[in-house]
Amino acid sequence: MPVNCSSCKRAAILKRPKTGDALCKECFFSAFEEEVHHTIKSAGLFTPGETIAVGASGGKDSTVLAYVLKLLNQRYNYNIQLILLSVDEGITGYRDDSLETVKRNQQQYDLPLKIVSYEELYGWTMDAIVKQIGLKNNCTFCGVFRRQALDRGAMILKVDKIVTGHNADDIAETVIMNVLRGDIARLRRCTAITTGMDGALPRCKPFKYTYEKEIVMYAYFKKLDYFSTECVYSPNAYRGFARAFIKDLEKMRPSAIIDIIHSGESLSVKKEVRMPVQGQCSRCGYMSSNPVCKACVLLEGLNRGLPRLGIGKEHKERRKLADKLAQEEAQSISSPAAVFGEMNIVRVEKSHGGSCSQLSVKVPGVAGCEEEVKKLQLDRRKLTVDDIDF
Ligand code: SF4
Ligand code: ZN
Repeated sequence: MPVNCSSCKRAAILKRPKTGDALCKECFFSAFEEEVHHTIKSAGLFTPGETIAVGASGGKDSTVLAYVLKLLNQRYNYNIQLILLSVDEGITGYRDDSLETVKRNQQQYDLPLKIVSYEELYGWTMDAIVKQIGLKNNCTFCGVFRRQALDRGAMILKVDKIVTGHNADDIAETVIMNVLRGDIARLRRCTAITTGMDGALPRCKPFKYTYEKEIVMYAYFKKLDYFSTECVYSPNAYRGFARAFIKDLEKMRPSAIIDIIHSGESLSVKKEVRMPVQGQCSRCGYMSSNPVCKACVLLEGLNRGLPRLGIGKEHKERRKLADKLAQEEAQSISSPAAVFGEMNIVRVEKSHGGSCSQLSVKVPGVAGCEEEVKKLQLDRRKLTVDDIDF
């Protein structure tokens, strides 16, 4: 017997994963969009006049996010400006193809697009990194670099916020992973709909309560153009286990995803638990709870042929390197020996011997005269770091 839509009584064509309601296509679209609108309004994600970068990978989540935000912005007059921002990790056969999808989305949705690449920012593609380190820790490098690359792209665009397509399933997996790792600091942060409020660039997740299955359904019924191939360097094994675990739970308890998110939101941390204090990386100036951020340590390791340098929780060598670099950065203020290249992290072997009087270019923790900066921007790939004892 045909089932009727529980909302409009026309013929239903789907069963909504989140509620179990039988719905027609139009009522599903409307329920999906209204829930995202409700999330945006109740969390006060946008302020009129803001420019918002949509982290766009060409995958289903970010494609649906860009589509729905454009639609809601027009329907409810948010008065925000949207820009697509993509990161090219340099993964042949994966990201090159998915970026073609983003370029088509740019045309389809009539939104500006900016692409930043690992090669341009760090001097390394993921293809080259995997050649160097193999397939074990590649996602650690990729995740750390991507996070910073999005921030850097957003800063170039001078946007007010970044939105990402992280959905409810992603957040539930992250809660479980952080519980299993005992990572209290991340556990506390990972359910927040907006992070980085105290830093330069807040990040928001308008799909925080949106199920992945519904995003796929929405993209399918709207016939959106998205890229669905998996990365050639995946899977990220640990997340894969958390995902499989939640899928099993969901079979027995359909509300498992939202329940896990609510549990994560409600956890409180004892006063005695020491939380990392957010500061700035002394090398690149980005937010970090260590003197030198993880991206800088990983990059230093790659450039020095020590790719395992930043892997692991509190690597002995990482600590030594961080101390050494922090010490050097402190010295470089009075003797301009270290300079921050526009997009890369470099260190000069020789400065003007500490006598330079034109200390005109400063970024957090490092300094150099204009002449040095220009020279480095031209020549930065040839420069080497000072020797560090291990
Ligand atoms: Fe990067 Fe790993 Fe994701 Fe591939 S699977 S894009 S290497 S984080
Ligand atoms: Zn850094």
